[in-house]
Amino acid sequence: MEIAPPVQRSSHQNVEKDKSRRKIPRDVEVDIEYLYEVVPQLSRIFRVIDKIGEGTFSSVYLAEAQMTDGSRKMFALKHLIPTSHPMRIAAELQCLTVAGGTENVMGVTYCFRKEHHVVIVMPYMEHQTFVDIVGSLSFEEVRHYIYHLLKALRHIHKFGIIHRDIKPNNFLFNQQRREYALVDFGLAQGTTDTQIELLKVVKSKAHKGGGSSGRVEDAHGKQKLLPLPPNTRNPSVHSSTKAPAKRSCPPSCIKHTKELLVLDKAPRSVFGERNLNSTNSHKIGTDNVEGQLSKPTKEDVIPRKIVSFKRRSVPVKTPLNGQKPKPAAVSQTLSCSCFMNDRVCNICLSRKQQVAPRAGTPGFRAPEVLTKCPNQGTAIDMWSAGVILLSLLSGRYPFFKASDDLNALTQIMTIRGSKETIEAAKKFGKSIVCSRELPRLNLRILCETLRGLRSYDDGSLPAEFQASRHPAEVPYGIWFFKRRLLRQLKEKMLMADRI
Ligand code: ADP
Ligand code: MG
Ligand code: ZN
Repeated sequence: MEIAPPVQRSSHQNVEKDKSRRKIPRDVEVDIEYLYEVVPQLSRIFRVIDKIGEGTFSSVYLAEAQMTDGSRKMFALKHLIPTSHPMRIAAELQCLTVAGGTENVMGVTYCFRKEHHVVIVMPYMEHQTFVDIVGSLSFEEVRHYIYHLLKALRHIHKFGIIHRDIKPNNFLFNQQRREYALVDFGLAQGTTDTQIELLKVVKSKAHKGGGSSGRVEDAHGKQKLLPLPPNTRNPSVHSSTKAPAKRSCPPSCIKHTKELLVLDKAPRSVFGERNLNSTNSHKIGTDNVEGQLSKPTKEDVIPRKIVSFKRRSVPVKTPLNGQKPKPAAVSQTLSCSCFMNDRVCNICLSRKQQVAPRAGTPGFRAPEVLTKCPNQGTAIDMWSAGVILLSLLSGRYPFFKASDDLNALTQIMTIRGSKETIEAAKKFGKSIVCSRELPRLNLRILCETLRGLRSYDDGSLPAEFQASRHPAEVPYGIWFFKRRLLRQLKEKMLMADRI
């Protein structure tokens, strides 16, 4: 279906007209005006109706266009923040064009670019928010939901795409129409044998040049989709075109950008990060796209001195000869003495820092992401799908609500068991030391209990996992477990790469 020839309309007129039809808040109006201003081509085709999503890296709008056959069709316009790396944007687009449009994966209709502003046009899919449906789906609907999510994952994994941000906000679901669509390839990476050419670039190195330039605006077919020239971010290159807008971001997103800058500058510990994105689609700090494209940032490196996860500072024992250990040599020759000790030994402190991808949303991050395993594969998406299933079966969302990676790992251990988690970590060459053993829980009993189908007192769950006094006020699954236990575990837990 073709979109009808452009209709000339000023952005202001658009907004005025839309206002009469639908009550939209003033700040959204301002953002829509801004969108028309920075990508003026849009106003000739679309009537932007509302803002339907906002994350740190994009704003998504609902828009309507008249088709050549006279019908009107709804679209979702994803306006990426202008600071996104061009290669990252091109990779997201390539995922959508190559793998999208089928098997429950969202497709792409068109893409506009004006200077450093890119808008991806997708078919609009009306959907419910997960909180609204999580407790009310029938068992049969849960089965369908997960079946369709797995179908989408099987499809993208076949192309060697690791989505890296599987969560309900990125898997649209229309309950009435039984429609499903996986969206948001903004953090995707490629497997070693990925078929998505640009994911090879995104994964391997910072892309500071090269790449063929092409107008993304022309890209409505797979073949036509070309990477954006890296210099498009520099407005001076485009001096012949209209001067760039003063603002680089919709007014309402400025607050996020500020946070982003602050967080970007401050080196943060892996386990001491600020969590700003546990319940929405915001991606921050180390999860930011630029971070993945450029060389590993400081945040991607585990500073050994904080690995003990202790609140008080780590006393570093001075070796007998009174000298500080020489990093590389020590780790080669001595064996680690971390075991049953609540601090990281000097040997581990001196070991080479490990770099691993760490994108995603805390409660959905797989253990290999949390423990910074370098060889991460499509299994990390499967883990996140499992967390969604836990939410659907227990009726709790978010299921895990962790403020940092250590808390996240601790919460996983309380469910999967400490022994099992430690064993699994070993396979990745990671060693987790824990002060006490935690049993693996029967997930069925756990979900039935959280759903209120069983009593907490029926003895099926260990006593220490009993519910808090006010279950109705606490929506999260894991929050039901005694906080004291989590704290104890955290204080004594220790993790390091295995010798
Ligand atoms: P971000 O990278 O900022 O998370 P997403 O691509 O995940 O952006 O989109 C953010 C939100 O916008 C989604 O959670 C969803 O609610 C909405 N959205 C995105 N694409 C569509 C679409 N094609 N149809 C309807 N809503 C969409
Ligand atoms: Mg998203
Ligand atoms: Zn050690």
